[in-house]
Amino acid sequence: RAKREGRGRVRFFETEMDQELRDRRLLQHDLRQALEQNQLVVYFQPQARMDGEVIGFEALLRWNHPTRGFVQPDQFIPLAEENGLIIQIGEWVLREACREAASWPRPLQVAVNLSPVQFQAGDLERSIHQILLETGLAPTRLEVEITEGVLIGDFTRALNLLRRLKALGIRIAMDDFGTGYSSLSYLQSFPFDKIKIDRSFIANLEATPQSAEIVRAVLSLAHALNIPVLAEGVETEAQRAFLEREACEEVQGYLVGRPDLIERYLDLIGVAVERRLSA
Ligand code: C2E
Ligand code: MG
Ligand code: MG
Ligand code: MG
Repeated sequence: RAKREGRGRVRFFETEMDQELRDRRLLQHDLRQALEQNQLVVYFQPQARMDGEVIGFEALLRWNHPTRGFVQPDQFIPLAEENGLIIQIGEWVLREACREAASWPRPLQVAVNLSPVQFQAGDLERSIHQILLETGLAPTRLEVEITEGVLIGDFTRALNLLRRLKALGIRIAMDDFGTGYSSLSYLQSFPFDKIKIDRSFIANLEATPQSAEIVRAVLSLAHALNIPVLAEGVETEAQRAFLEREACEEVQGYLVGRPDLIERYLDLIGVAVERRLSA
């Protein structure tokens, strides 16, 4: 009897896994058409100094699936990395983000996330260079956000690529700082232009005393190394005030603004209301 129960359970588990796998394959199949059928959309989220002055936007990808509605990047970027589609998708995001930023009346920055797969395959340097020429965006206005995943694997190749991007004038930010295994050791390998403290630490600021201490430690370390810090996921004024007291330079999060179509932020990028109406 025990054996039968055990078998029953195993079979149930397998069925669930099969379903999950089938669903992933379906999504992966749909993703191939997403680019051609204009289902991908770039949202923009403001990044601000502590006084509220907006200094740039992060480009965040959205997939408007024909039957599922909006699919979140955490659900489809891993799939795109698995089958290599992220190369094309990543190039598309870069081009959209740079073209958009080049049209802004104010020379604000635009930040774009890069996948480790984009570093391993393809010719990232060439495609970024070409996109900058094509869109006319000044390289100094582009920031690329990488996670430590980029430096795992072919470390030397990734490092050289980062150096060449930096030589073009592009800024390099370390994203999700504090969540990986080796965030600290990567700080000595490359002169990052910005550190983004992961939002999990900010979310726990009030509830968990350890989080506040970790945020303080990251800020003190970054400042000793002369690297400015942006705090991700800032949702409350209490969090912002804490970060300001601790001399954090920049914030991003729902408190400043949610990721949205750029149309929602035209006033911030300097497009006058009259021009919007007449356009
Ligand atoms: P990320 O680069 O760390 O982006 C920040 C994430 O935090 C975004 O999630 C954003 O919507 C969310 N967020 C911002 N402010 C708040 C807040 O105040 N509260 C909360 N709870 N969340 C906040 P999103 O847009 O779902 O993106 C998730 C991740 O997907 C990104 O994390 C990034 O790693 C990846 N991603 C997004 N777009 C791209 C892309 O174009 N290329 C690549 N390779 N990865 C991307
Ligand atoms: Mg990011
Ligand atoms: Mg992040
Ligand atoms: Mg993330």
